[in-house]
Amino acid sequence: MSSLYQKHRPQTFSQVSGQIFTIKTLANSIKHDRIGHAYLFTGPRGTGKTTLARVFAKAINCLEPKNISGEIAIEPCNKCANCQLINQNRALDLIEIDAASHTGVDNIRALKEAIALPPSQLKYKVYIIDEVHMLSLGAFNALLKTLEEPPAHAVFILATTEQHKVPETIISRCQQFSITPLTQKQIIKRLQEISQKEGVEIENEALEVIAINADGGMRDAESMLTQIMSLEDKNITVEEVNSILGTSSKQNVIEFVQFLINQELAPALAKIDFLQTSGIDLKNFNKSLLAYLRNLMLIKSCPENPSDITTGLTEDQIIQAQELIKETELKSILRLIELFQKSLEQFKITNLPSLPLELATIDFLTTEDELSRKKTIQNEVSKLSQQKIPPQSSPTKTNDKKTIATSLKKKPKPEKRELTSSEDEQKIANKKESTEPILQKSIKLSEVLDEWSTVLENVRPLNHSIHAFLKNCIPIGILEDNLYIKTKYDFYKDKLDEIENKLTVQQVIAKITNAPLKIVFVNEQEAEKLKFEPERLDENPLHAAMKLMGGRIVES
Ligand SMILES: [Zn+2]
Repeated sequence: MSSLYQKHRPQTFSQVSGQIFTIKTLANSIKHDRIGHAYLFTGPRGTGKTTLARVFAKAINCLEPKNISGEIAIEPCNKCANCQLINQNRALDLIEIDAASHTGVDNIRALKEAIALPPSQLKYKVYIIDEVHMLSLGAFNALLKTLEEPPAHAVFILATTEQHKVPETIISRCQQFSITPLTQKQIIKRLQEISQKEGVEIENEALEVIAINADGGMRDAESMLTQIMSLEDKNITVEEVNSILGTSSKQNVIEFVQFLINQELAPALAKIDFLQTSGIDLKNFNKSLLAYLRNLMLIKSCPENPSDITTGLTEDQIIQAQELIKETELKSILRLIELFQKSLEQFKITNLPSLPLELATIDFLTTEDELSRKKTIQNEVSKLSQQKIPPQSSPTKTNDKKTIATSLKKKPKPEKRELTSSEDEQKIANKKESTEPILQKSIKLSEVLDEWSTVLENVRPLNHSIHAFLKNCIPIGILEDNLYIKTKYDFYKDKLDEIENKLTVQQVIAKITNAPLKIVFVNEQEAEKLKFEPERLDENPLHAAMKLMGGRIVES
């Protein structure tokens, strides 16, 4: 497949995406017959500088220019002899020079001699010099002389990505235009037009993934689309795009942001590790993350019309985002953006791809705000537990959350005890062979809930990451021999469902409760379908506190 960028290159001003101010000014100069001799287009790579230069060259040479919305004719017709010469790359008077490969003074001297001669076909002799900052000093000086006394028929259009490398003397001779990066919306719109012309259906979310990763450059966006269309598939899904570009699903981004906002460090770091081992390009993930955080910032600061200001979010995703940041301050979102903007830049200077994301995550979750928030929750737990604890308890001890948690536990029955470290080792050795304890009895959910913190304590030394996941889960019911545990996110469920992890949890629960329960992890939707009677958690102050804080125990 030939490059879509070449095939669908805009041929008129109205086909060019964005750059409204530049186009308007250029159109005005044509309209009032005040065409300058030198223009300088500056802007990032792939944003359409030379495309716009070519359209302008055609517009000033067109023999039968057309109207733009009823105004004076300025659009190239693409039909007259001059337009056709340019479109077919046969116009002798349109000279495109890549300064990167023609840096020397000789090239410019040759240009200077040629420019004195009048155009042979067109009205104007147009020189488009791309990457003009690459010229040598001698070449710049030669160019400057030409720009100082240009023949009436000559028009120079200089383009550069690095304006600061162009001498001030050159810049001051030019009309200067800043070609801005395109917005995601503009890129998506253009990609939609192209895919329609190519007769290919592409999911909107897939186009959004491309737009995010194009960094405002249409050329990159179109070359990604070329790559994806080479699949020869007429219905392209976001999954296909993700697998080709090494990008991650939006669900991954949303879950990661949930961890950050809910101040869950271990799962957030586990997620980064998971993405990396899944072969996802973490730099692309960082870009998608920033795009999502930007949406959150806009929703938080202008809650009235979120669908007008956000990019690439469906109605459902907007509602989900609103719910997610309900309790979050704008300040925190701004800080996240700042940190992950910084991490994006760090990808250039590290050879550990996960490090930039990890640094930003840890930085965000270990700030003063986080500490004070934890303190507030601990105080809430203390207050609630003081209501329950008999007066003889030492008041100094009530400041220690772990002491409270232990003192709140029912007095353990003799046959239930915590695992010792030697038993741990034995347990690990045996866990694949036996999942059922010797003693068996029927058990109620409330009994499991009473032992839940003991379960967590016993899982922790066996596997820290299972512990991190599990402490955000809650047992919701027992049906026959199955203990149903609700996981907070699908990602947790996937992790906990891994056979090793599940066996570990099952073994610990069996040992502590002495009941041969099989564990079934369910996500939110599945839990809802099961319709278990809600437990009366409020009887236990720790449970009440957990409920108040969103159903999780926070470690000190
Ligand atoms: Zn024409």
